[in-house]
Amino acid sequence: MSRIQQTAVVGAGTMGNGIAHVFALHGHDVTLIDVDQDRLDAAVTTIEENLNRQVDKDKIGSGEREEALDRLQTTTDTAEGVADVGLAVEAVPEEQELKAEIFGTLDRHAPDDAILASNTSSISITWIAAQTERPARVIGMHFFNPVPVMTLVEVVRGQRTSEATFDTVSGLAEELDKKPVEVEDYPGFVSNRVLMPMINEAVFCVMEGVADPDDIDTVMTLGMNHPMGPLTLADFIGLDVCLHIMEVLHEELGDDKYRPCPLLRRKVTAGQLGRKTGEGFFSYDA
Ligand code: NAD
Repeated sequence: MSRIQQTAVVGAGTMGNGIAHVFALHGHDVTLIDVDQDRLDAAVTTIEENLNRQVDKDKIGSGEREEALDRLQTTTDTAEGVADVGLAVEAVPEEQELKAEIFGTLDRHAPDDAILASNTSSISITWIAAQTERPARVIGMHFFNPVPVMTLVEVVRGQRTSEATFDTVSGLAEELDKKPVEVEDYPGFVSNRVLMPMINEAVFCVMEGVADPDDIDTVMTLGMNHPMGPLTLADFIGLDVCLHIMEVLHEELGDDKYRPCPLLRRKVTAGQLGRKTGEGFFSYDA
């Protein structure tokens, strides 16, 4: 087995458990790492449930489910968890200093030839790479939620990411049955650079009374054939996450066309963050 088949996933939250699921199902020995044992336990339960669902839908056999679970282990010790890996994928919260700390740890404890990937949505891969002594082997691997279902991976090249690293990670994404798309390291990559201004514009439409939220979403679902309207999607993503990404685009690209809509800011200030708080542009039962 090549070393790249030994994979660590750092952060066992929403994205980390999905990433670990997909790697384990495709033959990788996966060590899932988190500072919080309860999060690790919850992640394993989620992975079991999601594998069961795939078995029920005949997407995988029950033998594949068992093998995937056998290949999965967990630890709260990051240094130990990455000691033998060929690849570490980081999925800790979107905080710059935390990412710097984690990449410092990964750089010190993972083998010298290991690739370090980040699932960040908005932090520069070039900046993350600069926190390490191996910028040529640092790359973005931007998965989408829910990871076992969504086939896209933005493979993000930092300024000093090597061709070999890019080729390895793109090939790996294909082996995971994902569609890798090559993206340069600019704020928001492609996904959020295109999506978030659309959501922000939909919020301006609400604020200016152009139409009500239901009708705005209907225009985009029926008129543009989007599977979900922008305001429903914003509630699903979290309005705080949308605001944060708009702030990153605005600050780093320096263009006022990315200014966050005041209504988006107001809702976040009021704690109306979307589905996760039961109230955003729409209301949700607990
Ligand atoms: P989350 O809050 O659900 O999970 C983060 C996990 O990291 C938690 O379990 C937390 O205990 C753990 N953690 C915190 N500090 C740690 C440390 N020092 N070492 C190890 N683990 C630590 O977050 P998420 O939604 O899974 O997002 C993770 C990353 O993925 C972020 O960078 C985010 O921008 C990106 N992302 C999120 C989505 C999404 O839809 N949620 C989509 C694409 C990318």
